[in-house]
Amino acid sequence: QAKAAGRNTHRLFDPGMQASVTARAALESDLRRALAEDQFLLHYQALVDDNGQLTGAEALLRWQHPERGLVPPGEFITLAEDTGLILPLGQWALETACSQLARWAQDPTLKHLKIAANVSARQFRHSDFVAGVLRALANSGADPHRLKLEITESLLLEDVEEVIEKMRQLRARGVSFALDDFGTGYSSLSYLKRLPLDDVKIDQSFVRDVLVDPNDAAIARTIVALADTLGLRVIAEGVETREHWEWLSRHGCHTHQGYYFGRPGPVASIQEALAKWTFPSHRGARPVPVNPGPD
Ligand code: C2E
Ligand code: MG
Ligand code: MG
Ligand code: MG
Repeated sequence: QAKAAGRNTHRLFDPGMQASVTARAALESDLRRALAEDQFLLHYQALVDDNGQLTGAEALLRWQHPERGLVPPGEFITLAEDTGLILPLGQWALETACSQLARWAQDPTLKHLKIAANVSARQFRHSDFVAGVLRALANSGADPHRLKLEITESLLLEDVEEVIEKMRQLRARGVSFALDDFGTGYSSLSYLKRLPLDDVKIDQSFVRDVLVDPNDAAIARTIVALADTLGLRVIAEGVETREHWEWLSRHGCHTHQGYYFGRPGPVASIQEALAKWTFPSHRGARPVPVNPGPD
């Protein structure tokens, strides 16, 4: 016991650890400044259905850092959550996504598109969350039916009743919900049954090797079967090749997202994706299983 405490005390003064504490503090003050100076932006990634039709886009946060360039969310979201900065940042992302929806609504060729926005557990649990979403919708004039919120299984670690109640309030206004990164979290299947969801997203870690790894293929098929039973639609993420798309379509995924259809990019890239992934002119792009085989 004393020995363990001694080691911990020693660690507290470990120069490597001190360096990481300093780096964290620097990143935190950088993040605060970034919010104040408007250095965040959203990139958008195409969502395409089985017919090769663009149905919407996922909004993905980026940080345009003055020295480091474009920083992906993996490098700052966790710290933003730990510090609470995710609250203003997440609200900014929702407002920006809703403003984009309102702009698309002015264009007959774009007004059918949905935007899926990511919501972190801490943001969702905040008492102002529902009001914040409704405010973003009202201030922009965006149609709530075009907004989808992506939540993760980590939400289910605490008060599930409260999660369900908030989802119900937003769904009553027309907002839809997807469970992101499905299969990587800790959720119990009995919770999954009770959540008022619209979609589940198969995590890209199962999609990557779905054509070569029988275990991943089995997991993907199981998720589709489970979703079908619960009346949920399935979105596959990490679709990088035509072969991925064909396999996933054939096995019951309804919507597809990944580098094959386009990388996340500025909003103009969605207009380009629309030209490429539009029914019926690209009907030939529809995946037709030549020989489905016994799998
Ligand atoms: P996510 O919601 O699961 O988003 C999908 C991630 O997979 C994105 O990474 C996307 O760029 C990447 N991706 C898409 N297609 C492919 C593909 O074909 N292959 C591979 N290898 N990767 C692909 P990104 O943009 O770096 O975002 C990472 C995570 O950061 C997101 O994962 C999400 O959890 C979080 N995030 C992004 N924007 C927000 C936000 O506004 N709020 C919150 N709370 N989290 C966000
Ligand atoms: Mg997502
Ligand atoms: Mg995801
Ligand atoms: Mg993911």
